[in-house]
Amino acid sequence: MSREKILIVEDNKALSKLIVKKMQSSLDFDIDAAYSYEEALALVEKEKDYFVALLDLNLPDAPEGEVVDMILSHKIPSIVLTGSMDHETREKILKKEVIDYVHKGNIDDVNYIFSLIERLHKNRDVKVLVVDDSIVARAQIKDFLQRHMFKVLVAAHGEEALAFLEDNPDIKLILTDYLMPVIDGVELTKEVRKRYSKNELSIIAMTASNAELISAHFLKIGANDFINKPFSQEEITCRIDNSLDALEYIATIKAMAQSDFLSGLANRRFFFEQMQHYFKEAKEHSEPFALGLIDIDQFKQINDTLGHRIGDAVIVALSEQLKNHFCDNAFISRFGGDEFCVVLKQCDPKKALAYFVKFTDVVSHLAISVPETKSLHVSVSIGVTFNDVGSLEEIVHLADQALYKAKQNGRNRVEVA
Ligand code: GH3
Ligand code: MG
Repeated sequence: MSREKILIVEDNKALSKLIVKKMQSSLDFDIDAAYSYEEALALVEKEKDYFVALLDLNLPDAPEGEVVDMILSHKIPSIVLTGSMDHETREKILKKEVIDYVHKGNIDDVNYIFSLIERLHKNRDVKVLVVDDSIVARAQIKDFLQRHMFKVLVAAHGEEALAFLEDNPDIKLILTDYLMPVIDGVELTKEVRKRYSKNELSIIAMTASNAELISAHFLKIGANDFINKPFSQEEITCRIDNSLDALEYIATIKAMAQSDFLSGLANRRFFFEQMQHYFKEAKEHSEPFALGLIDIDQFKQINDTLGHRIGDAVIVALSEQLKNHFCDNAFISRFGGDEFCVVLKQCDPKKALAYFVKFTDVVSHLAISVPETKSLHVSVSIGVTFNDVGSLEEIVHLADQALYKAKQNGRNRVEVA
């Protein structure tokens, strides 16, 4: 797929070039630059699918913001660049239904463009639910959110909102009004928090500005933020962005805490967290499974003779093989060092054993390409258990004993305990 495009229309060539240069280094978009209304018109008549357009309000051949109307008439989402930001200009810009405006007076404001574009790009995958009993308010917020490229759902009251949430577990943000029939905003927030934590789904309560204690109440029962009605577009934009940024940071930190940095596989801690739960269920339902501990043979030698960097490349290559070889029903983790653990869920012993044996075979025939040297060959030893008695730690210990046996019996083989 070809890269998406951004259009910038700005007659100040130095500024335009600065923005284009910064964009090229920080964003993954192609950029078309026009320096006048005429040039912009020629471009949009050829190219219909700009992701977003950055538009100077005052161009020599369009001094009254005409370029904004023209670009919007081509259904291209627009951000306005403006030199002056008085009350009148702001009103004029916001009436035009642009996404946002950026004061091009200083570099910090220009930097805001990049974070705004990145945010918009991500927003396309973010589902937002608006809950308000006023038709007018609902329509206004929906329109605003769609301009910001979100996927938007609207509900007229808390009950409807809960039904939407049931059907759309991927909703990331709820904007809820306070007073609504049947289930109000407070009750809705309480119900949502029974299902999703503050770190998984963000709630912003919209409260009337004369209801100070209501805002505090919302925060106490689990809303992430609140906004006083009526609110400016600028304020809601920032509050939504802050909320979503926080969710994203938390998701990133969580993923980092669960995975092994080198291989990207689940780490040992995450393995125990996930598998405790699985083993309990598997036992209860008498579901067959297999647990295999896989350890690279004579790995220290690779480190000692070729260096740690090559050793790392071997670990990465084997991780890829593990992902390719075992099916979706396998939980693959790196236990540490050159040791991996694979749990084959819902798999009968005979088949499971065949998968592990086949893996030793695949690895022993693999030519691993590593930097600065000819390709390498390694082998792995595997200890397997199908035993479901005792704790998870005991089950892992059994597989470890089988692995020890495989090493004792000459390596490049599978043993069962
Ligand atoms: P055996 O066949 O008995 O398993 O012999 P081995 O040499 O593979 O012995 P062992 O499994 O005990 O050695 C693991 C080595 O892995 C020791 C350590 O230096 C190395 N190691 C551990 N973590 C890393 C890592 O992240 N990168 C690299 N390159 N080496 C690591
Ligand atoms: Mg080893």
